[in-house]
Amino acid sequence: MTNSTLTIALSKGRILNETLPLLAHAGITPAEDVDKSRRLILATSQPDVKLLIIRAADVPTYVEHGAADLGVAGKDVLMEYDGDGLYEPLDLNIARCRMMVAGVPGAQASGARLRVATKYVNVTRRYYAEQGEQVEIIKLYGSMELAPLVGLAERIVDLVDTGGTLKANGLAPMETIATISARLIVNKAAMKMKHARVKALIARLAKAVEKNSDE
Ligand code: AMP
Repeated sequence: MTNSTLTIALSKGRILNETLPLLAHAGITPAEDVDKSRRLILATSQPDVKLLIIRAADVPTYVEHGAADLGVAGKDVLMEYDGDGLYEPLDLNIARCRMMVAGVPGAQASGARLRVATKYVNVTRRYYAEQGEQVEIIKLYGSMELAPLVGLAERIVDLVDTGGTLKANGLAPMETIATISARLIVNKAAMKMKHARVKALIARLAKAVEKNSDE
């Protein structure tokens, strides 16, 4: 992206839906309906601000490599991401949930080690290492709740909001690993090269977050 453009990476779904009002408060609205559009680069009400629509787990990669100047990513994605080219200047206080260990109450390991199914392999490895517990981690890409029901694992590590999904599948929340919310992330070079504009946007978003939490 050129030096005059400010590019913001977002993922569709809860993050996009909850970020759009914050951006609107900062004077940035998409030029077309984001739910209907299939475009991956969206123009906005500000000619020099563009939105990139990408997968949630890819947001830190685009921002770290400078393909986007800024991004909005869940803390779960950031905890799992292995990189250091990012600043995380603002908790947007949206898309809130908890990352939890869950399972069938009372289920014991069938072998020597507890099996834990998750898409958060790095976070899970760190968590159990800190607990001093040796576990077998099984990588999945989604629907973690199924794993304990079919004997793939005794535990899962997943995001929990209302707890409804766990309950519907006969699972119980067991331990909280982290409280999660979406964060604004900024490419380190963009923070230097586009300092005034990035700083102004962070300040306006911070005001919008404040206003949100007053409501
Ligand atoms: P719930 O049934 O309300 O506890 O929601 C749990 C389901 O929604 C799980 O499949 C989670 O992976 C997903 N989920 C909950 N909160 C979030 C979030 N903030 N971001 C993405 N997925 C979430």
